[in-house]
Amino acid sequence: MIEKTLAIIKPDAVKKNVIGKIISRIEDEGFKITAMRLAKLTKDEAKGFYIVHKDKSFYIPLTDYMSSGPVMLMRLERENAIGHWRKVMGATDPAKAEPGTIRRLYGFSIESNATHGSDAPETAEWELNYFFKG
Ligand code: ADP
Ligand code: MG
Repeated sequence: MIEKTLAIIKPDAVKKNVIGKIISRIEDEGFKITAMRLAKLTKDEAKGFYIVHKDKSFYIPLTDYMSSGPVMLMRLERENAIGHWRKVMGATDPAKAEPGTIRRLYGFSIESNATHGSDAPETAEWELNYFFKG
């Protein structure tokens, strides 16, 4: 079944000049990029996006970081897009991510970890609607 997921190239990876490398990998993994937009999130947009984490200790630094510089927002489509993109990204903490995963290759820390991916069909729909309106 063809699924859609939201991918974000986060500010640390944009600053590192690896947008192209990450997009190449996305294409090599068989995803179609069906929407894409470079954006500078406001603090409020970042807080809204990560509202599920509002009670976590890292919510304020995370939303400061996500609004600190441009991000690349993408809608990816593929069979099992949600699970496959999370596998290609690797674990949240780059130090624990498998060799060859995007977070291991390009992430800097558990916070500045290069990319985002939706974690379930319901969150993918909500997140895609947040940035792309369907
Ligand atoms: P994932 O992005 O792998 O789905 P989470 O949904 O748990 O991970 O967390 C969302 C984002 O919050 C992470 O990608 C990372 O940028 C940040 N984050 C998660 N855990 C921590 C932490 N312990 N300290 C700082 N930032 C964190
Ligand atoms: Mg998550």
